[in-house]
Amino acid sequence: TAVNVQMMVFGNKGDTSGTGVAFTRNAATGEKAMLGEYLVNAQGEDVVAGVRTPKPIAQLEQDMPEVYNQFMELANKLENHYKDMQDMEFTVEEGKLYFLQTRNGKRTANAALKIAVDLVNEGLITTDEALMKVEPKQLDQILHPAFDQKALKAAKAIGKGLPASPGAAAGKVYFTAEDAKIHAETGERVILVRLETSPEDIEGMVAAQGILTVRGGMTSHAAVVARGMGTCCVSGCEEIRMNEAEKTFTLGGATIKEGDYISLDGSTGNIYNEDIPTVDPEISGDFATFMKWADEKRSLKVRTNADTPADARKARELGAEGIGLCRTEHMFFEESRIAAFREMICSDTVEEREAALEKILPYQQGDFEKIYEALEGYPVTIRFLDPPLHEFVPTEEADIEKLANAQGRTVEEIKNYIAGLHEFNPMMGHRGCRLAVTYPEIARMQTRAVIRAAINVQKAHSEWKMRPEIMIPLICDIKELKYVKKIVVETADAEIAASGIELEYEVGTMIEIPRAALTADEIAKEADFFCFGTNDLTQMTFGFSRDDSGKFLNAYYDTKILENDPFAKLDQNGVGKLMEMSIKLGKPANPSMHVGICGEHGGDPSSVEFCHKIGLDYVSCSPFRVPIARLAAAQAAINSK
Ligand code: PEP
Ligand code: MG
Repeated sequence: TAVNVQMMVFGNKGDTSGTGVAFTRNAATGEKAMLGEYLVNAQGEDVVAGVRTPKPIAQLEQDMPEVYNQFMELANKLENHYKDMQDMEFTVEEGKLYFLQTRNGKRTANAALKIAVDLVNEGLITTDEALMKVEPKQLDQILHPAFDQKALKAAKAIGKGLPASPGAAAGKVYFTAEDAKIHAETGERVILVRLETSPEDIEGMVAAQGILTVRGGMTSHAAVVARGMGTCCVSGCEEIRMNEAEKTFTLGGATIKEGDYISLDGSTGNIYNEDIPTVDPEISGDFATFMKWADEKRSLKVRTNADTPADARKARELGAEGIGLCRTEHMFFEESRIAAFREMICSDTVEEREAALEKILPYQQGDFEKIYEALEGYPVTIRFLDPPLHEFVPTEEADIEKLANAQGRTVEEIKNYIAGLHEFNPMMGHRGCRLAVTYPEIARMQTRAVIRAAINVQKAHSEWKMRPEIMIPLICDIKELKYVKKIVVETADAEIAASGIELEYEVGTMIEIPRAALTADEIAKEADFFCFGTNDLTQMTFGFSRDDSGKFLNAYYDTKILENDPFAKLDQNGVGKLMEMSIKLGKPANPSMHVGICGEHGGDPSSVEFCHKIGLDYVSCSPFRVPIARLAAAQAAINSK
């Protein structure tokens, strides 16, 4: 930290003095118009703390026109110099203007996009510079919900505060950060209501859908922090009468108690005493322009992890160029499907299992058809059944009985099947390709579904070149892959021959066990592609359970053994080294192979950058993280120049 020691100036020397904070562009919308606040006869702390409610900067023109003109001129000069929106603090001491500080201003994602696009159009910066100005994670904000317009029209506001941070939020009211956090952890949507916020409130603010404060302006703590987080915030609603002891407040004649629903509109400042439904946002033209620049820059492709036609469509809208992971097991949890799946699990013979699989096949094929349609000819990787089967069996007595009746078995028999599926360490147990090795009929059914769906879609869409990608999970040895691949190829080729049309397909594997990475040169000979399953690869490289490590990881951060959760941010030194090794070993053995990542890290910006560096072809992440990955990939390309 550098320290400047300098003479103090005073804004509290009477009515020709004052102090304020201003942004050269609107920090909420990005509009090119000065946005700021000031207080006459005050020190900076009075504005920041929100103790007094300040006046808009435009008022300065009337109060002190000369100072205002000089301020505007210098603000403009600073913006041109730094080529970015400035957040400035100033003090006027007896008619003389002093700038205390200037820095690039914090802004909402929509403002960041608009400012970046405008600065390019104004000739101040290049498109590369514009791309570097937006934090990829910030794009999350523009994907946040707004109110359903019809419901909003029918609702009546009970009051209004300052529109401090845009977006829409509805939830139950809590009056302390701690209460907000506790209730959010139980799955409730919460709104944190405070007289004003301070840094100690941060965890409650993070947990809240929205923040409402009684005091404070657009540049006070709640507003600035909420804007940075992309959380909806209405601040400075001074009509609120708080009763912190009783945990209630009154506004517009209504009394709101702890646990009551309210809704906040962070774009207008309106407050409602009801739970207004929210809808997905419209994305602005600036977003499209900006993302087009990002797409032109990046070499890394961005696919999505999607298991349903709806998710696939959403991901396409957000720019996904394919599906990198379709977890087929997610298709079985629906009420109508789980019964057939359970029958399959509780079969005694291959014939019984095949009969149950016949019932599952049409569901699976239908889903694949819809997913292919949603992807409009872009590649789709379908991962074969992966989790241990006990995840699907019923636990409730009534469901066990239902299954027993459907199968003509006794409850006792079903309970015995379930008990037989018990494993001490299921994550390392009977899952992944091991299911296909023990029950090849599952792989056969899934292959039929993948290929039949592709044939049907190919027939309906001659403009697309269907080329389904079948992905075998949890391989640790080349012979496993060979064994399962043989089943897939025999089944697929028979289906294609019977259809009378030509169809190409690929069979690849996930690299998610260290032994697969270590023997990648052998595995590559049999694989059309590798996809790093870094969730499991992290689990098995660290030996940390994906599900249980939360219990001790905090101690690891406290003791600085780890800096980050390795399940969120790729461990480049260890897991990353295994990835690099796999590519170095695999590519020479099979140069035409494509390589991607589909663990959660595929949507984390620093991990995306690493994937770019080590030469992956694509990352795959959840639909809402697709824009983040697109921008992170563009930034990685710019950084590596
Ligand atoms: C992985 O392990 O990274 C992966 C994508 O598969 P899953 O999360 O389904 O185990
Ligand atoms: Mg996995």
